[in-house]
This record gives sequence, structure tokens and C-alpha cells, in this order.
Amino acid sequence: MTSTTDPALRSFVPVAPDSDFPIQNLPYGVFETSGPTAAPGETPDARVGVAIGDHVLDLTALEAHGAIGTGGRRWFGEGSLNAFLSAGRSVWSEIRSQTSTLLREDTATLRDDSTLRAQVLRPLNAVRMTLPVRIGGYTDFYSSREHATNVGTMFRGAENALMPNWLHLPVAYHGRASSIVVSGTPVRRPRGQTKADEAPAPSFGPTRLLDFELETGFFVGPGSALGEPIPIERAEEHIFGMVLVNDWSARDIQKWEYQPLGPFLAKNFATSISPWVVPLEALEPFRCPGPVQEPEPLEYLRSTRPQSYDIRLEVLLKTKTMSTPHRITLSNFKHLYWTMAQQLAHHTITGCNMHPGDLLASGTISGPTKESRGSMLELTWRGTEPISLPGGEERKFLLDGDELLMRGYAQGDGYRVGFGEVSGVILPS
Ligand code: CA
Repeated sequence: MTSTTDPALRSFVPVAPDSDFPIQNLPYGVFETSGPTAAPGETPDARVGVAIGDHVLDLTALEAHGAIGTGGRRWFGEGSLNAFLSAGRSVWSEIRSQTSTLLREDTATLRDDSTLRAQVLRPLNAVRMTLPVRIGGYTDFYSSREHATNVGTMFRGAENALMPNWLHLPVAYHGRASSIVVSGTPVRRPRGQTKADEAPAPSFGPTRLLDFELETGFFVGPGSALGEPIPIERAEEHIFGMVLVNDWSARDIQKWEYQPLGPFLAKNFATSISPWVVPLEALEPFRCPGPVQEPEPLEYLRSTRPQSYDIRLEVLLKTKTMSTPHRITLSNFKHLYWTMAQQLAHHTITGCNMHPGDLLASGTISGPTKESRGSMLELTWRGTEPISLPGGEERKFLLDGDELLMRGYAQGDGYRVGFGEVSGVILPS
């Protein structure tokens, strides 16, 4: 059997060399054909699909046709990926292999059946992407050493930059699942309590320090029972795939509210994710070692396998007066200190249970250089070094009308495994 990541694979569906969605990727998403793009008489519904070039392949329809499937179970009938996530790695691999085979240039089934092809292969610009997963639980980590060091240096000085626990455990907080939105959803500038250092009392109003955080996240596949930790060597069996995450942040609200329990209203107004979930299987060729961990973590966080991935990550900003987005950050997932496996092992070590579709985000992924900083807070060093944009504008933090975009991909030999993008426009308070 040919590996689904073989660089030599080609699809009968046209794929540009710089497309995020070649046959080696096959990321999963949920789409709707409602609204003006729906065919006459078509009822709006949510379907599971995989992206291929500029098209989406309808897995819900293919499953109903019997063209894909495992043992008669329906994985794609409910308009979300949750059932499929719960199925586990052997089902994921089988469905991925079947889908890859159907799309290959040397497979006639779809290639030569124009009727079936018209039913199951739709242009991406004719569908609307929705949240791919019903997300029950959301946790956000703080796993970039460079990000934690930058923020710690700004607020506590270089000698106390990292808190004493940071090199021993992946710090996190429990976030808000209900306000996770799909790419393209506008974000309203939140209002809240802030207090300037010199002010005698707090005041209330729109945040003045609206920021983004460049992150990735992973969706939990099979869950775990309450009381039963997931050992690190089995963690990857519970990780389905990854998305891009923008953890919108209101820095002035955060500064006043965060002590002693961490972020709350500064983060819960919106978190944006990319619509396509890239399966770990597609990222396997890009597995690489992460940063050296010194001191060595405790036993339950130790792993002998390299568990990072070489994924280039970009942030772009487009203000109301700009015609094209301008890149302001270039970072890489491989800079992240704590791995996804360590995050999952740590999260469950108490016996905290996981459910299929829980989202665990990385924390801001900053790299070692100035251009690889993953937030405005760091890029402008708390607003003291504004970013200059083409056209002469400057930014310290995000203004109303600004559009923030994140993109990411792993570069293979003649193909790229990409995430598409996560974007959002800031609306006035
Ligand atoms: Ca964050």
C-alpha cells in the first residue's frame, strides 16, 4: 500500500504547487452549502469534507454512497468531526487511505464518473466553512520559552523572566469553549475594567490594547476516563490533528484582572481557529526534535521520541487603508518548548478526563528573533516600538477595522502541507 504522504502522489484534481491542500495533506473540515451558494432546492446542512486543491471532497456523501467507510459505522453523518475523532487511529488511517486512493490520478472511480464527481466535489468558493468540531473543553497552554521570557522580562525584569515552575511543567489555564469561532468571524472590541498604574481607581470602557496571539491547537481524539491519566508514551493515540489558533487578548483588561488566578475576561470574548484540521498523519514527514529540555522534566513528562514538527507560521496585518496584508511575524512551531504529548500527559496526570473534540492550544509561539515574536505585545515591546506598515501607518496594538490573518504550512519535497488561514476583522466596541 502506498503511503498517503508519498511525495510522488498526484491527484486528478488540479493542485497548484503552492497550494496548502495537496493529496498528501487531506485536512478535515465541516462546510455548509446554505445561502446564496446553495444549489436550487438544496437544504442547508453541514457536511464533513477534506480539502483538495481549490475543492472540497464531501465525505458525508461518499460515506452515504458506500464509497468510503469502516464496518458499516457512520462517522460523517452529524455535521461535525466528533464521531470520527472518537474512532481512533486505525479508523483515521483507513478512511484517510480510502480518501487518498479515491483522489489519486490513477483511480477511475471519481475521475471518470462525472455525475458522482459533481455530487461530491465542490469548489471551495461555493461553500461556507463552519467550526469543524463541537468543542466541549478548551485549555490554553503557555509553552513557548521565548514568549514567556519576553512577557516576563517586560513585567518582572530579565532576571525574573521565567517563573520558578516554568521549566518543570507546561503552564496552562482552562479557557472558554463557547466563544471559539471559525476563521472569518468578526471580533467585536471588548469592554471591561482597566486601571492605569497611576490612576487612583479602575475605569470602564473599550480595551485600548487589543492583541493577537499566534498559536496552534490540537483536537483530542479518543477521550480518557475520569481518574485515568494518559501516559506520555500513549499521548499521540489521543491527538487527532492540528489547527491554527488566534487567542485574541485585551492586554489592559488582562493586566488589571489576572492576579492571582490568571486570564479571564481578557481572553474569553473570542478565540479564532482555522476551519481545516490537519491530521497528525499528514504532518509525520515533518516531525523533528523540539528545543533541548534542561533541566530534564519529571518522569511522567519524559519521552524518547522527537515530538515537534517543522511548521512555518506567519502573521499578517491588513488595515482599512491597505489593499494587501503585510507580514508582521514569521515563526515556527518547532520553537515550542513543551510538546503536545507533554501537554496532554500533564493535563491528565491528576485524572482529569478528556473528551473527543476537546481543544488544547499551544500558547503564543514566539521564536528567538525579533521578527518571530507571536504577539503585538512583544513585537512592539508593550507599545514602545510601534510597527511601521507599508503606506506609512503605525500600530502599537490593533485598531478597529484591522484584519489579522495567520497562515501556516510544512514544506515538503514539491508539495506543502498547509493549514489555510485563520482571519478576523476588528469591529468597533
Ligand atoms: Ca494564549
